[in-house]
Amino acid sequence: MSLTSKTLDIINHFGFKFNKNLGQNFLIDENILNKIIEGAQIQEEDCVIEVGPGIGTLTQAMAKHCKRVVSVEIDDSLIEILKETLGNYENIKIIHGDALKVDFKRLIEEENLENVKVAANLPYYLTTPFITNILSQKTNIKSLTLMIQKEVADRIIAKTGSSEYGSLSLLCSYYCDVKKIAKVSKNCFIPKPKVESMIIRMDIKDKPSIKVLDEALLFRVIRSAFNMRRKTLWNALKPLGLGDEKLKCALKNSGIDSLRRGETLSLEEFGKLSDEIKKLI
Ligand code: SAM
Repeated sequence: MSLTSKTLDIINHFGFKFNKNLGQNFLIDENILNKIIEGAQIQEEDCVIEVGPGIGTLTQAMAKHCKRVVSVEIDDSLIEILKETLGNYENIKIIHGDALKVDFKRLIEEENLENVKVAANLPYYLTTPFITNILSQKTNIKSLTLMIQKEVADRIIAKTGSSEYGSLSLLCSYYCDVKKIAKVSKNCFIPKPKVESMIIRMDIKDKPSIKVLDEALLFRVIRSAFNMRRKTLWNALKPLGLGDEKLKCALKNSGIDSLRRGETLSLEEFGKLSDEIKKLI
């Protein structure tokens, strides 16, 4: 039986109604399941954290290749379905909740998870908040392998100076090495999403790519620079509230022309600038 027929059977059997607001587009292509598993480099000794198991298609496939899968699902009606579809798997645990509210450090400790990798077909609305949230939690997770909107993947991988380059590119390059795994067509999902998707793997570095005096300040400076991306740094950074003298001084000391725009600055340059600001406040 094909994965499409199996999925439709389960949906019909349980009278499941897709909830658009929860980004429910279920995978119906075996090849893509394999690409996620291979892309995530899932090994027998690994524990995988998944966000949004849906009816458990990717969850089961991963559980066959690793030690344990812990998966967080928000939708009550799916929890009931998962009890049946995953009932026979002793190495799968479903947590009913919102992935954005999970303390992953605590979860890893409580569940005794080792060699932890995250792998998920993420609901698209959750992509940026989830990545931001999990990276800032500074867990010992080794990598995130995520199926996301292609457009967001392009923003994550964007190079300095390109139109897609922004806070998300900088956040990801600060914490991770990012690799494209595969482009995924709309036809691989039910229902079909409006946009194309991409699988990426983000290998989380042992230490961030650059060393700064104040990490929170670095990201405040980055956000400020991109809040008004068409403006010069001189104008875009004013809301930081340093005052003209200090802002001028910080830009001068970091060797950055105040007429440049945020999108032309590399991560290293943002690091230098935020350190100079830190010295003045
Ligand atoms: N993994 C399944 C698959 O590949 O077929 C389903 C993926 S579907 C794109 C996204 C899943 O995430 C849905 O099951 C949805 O209910 C769930 N979800 C949406 N928001 C969530 C949240 N905040 N926390 C946990 N799960 C969420």
